[in-house]
Amino acid sequence: MRMTKQRRFILDLLTQTHQPKSAEMIHAELPDDSMNLSTVYRTLDAFFIEGLVSKSTMKNTTFYYINHHDHHHYMICLGCQKMYEIDCHLDSIADHVASEHHFKITHHDMTVYGYCQDCQANHIQH
Ligand SMILES: [Zn+2]
Ligand SMILES: [Zn+2]
Repeated sequence: MRMTKQRRFILDLLTQTHQPKSAEMIHAELPDDSMNLSTVYRTLDAFFIEGLVSKSTMKNTTFYYINHHDHHHYMICLGCQKMYEIDCHLDSIADHVASEHHFKITHHDMTVYGYCQDCQANHIQH
């Protein structure tokens, strides 16, 4: 993939933050208007296919974050949208499934959804 100045900027932005960011948030932080929102979306999609970023979707908004080698995933509260970092335990399971199906895994993506303690009272029992 061609690494233009803008693509490099987006990648740096995500590398420097611990906060997952939506395309809109990234677009708002661009230094100039050389990239429109749909280009930001396309760039993030390309990063995802390359395995450079992971994503979590929350109420129709997709948040992107860097896919470090020693990466983690997110657990998101559907009530207040608070995000918790969780360790990845998927690699050993994925390797097992992959060898069964002769599948070559490049990367993976996982998000856990639910309700935090504060939101459980409001959302679980009705
Ligand atoms: Zn909550
Ligand atoms: Zn993982």
